[in-house]
Amino acid sequence: MAHQPERPQEYVCEGCHTVIAGTAHGDPPDHSYAPPEECAACGGTEFVEIQNYPSSG
Ligand SMILES: [Zn+2]
Repeated sequence: MAHQPERPQEYVCEGCHTVIAGTAHGDPPDHSYAPPEECAACGGTEFVEIQNYPSSG
């Protein structure tokens, strides 16, 4: 069985739409991701999981 490299959860800043990888907590495969505390680009604190972020509209 090939091990699939896990992709970190990514979040989209609601302020400037920058995509930021979440911070991992715990050890694989049971770890989880949390959004960053603050957007490095605009300082915003509201993030949406990228899979929940509308790709259009
Ligand atoms: Zn931002």
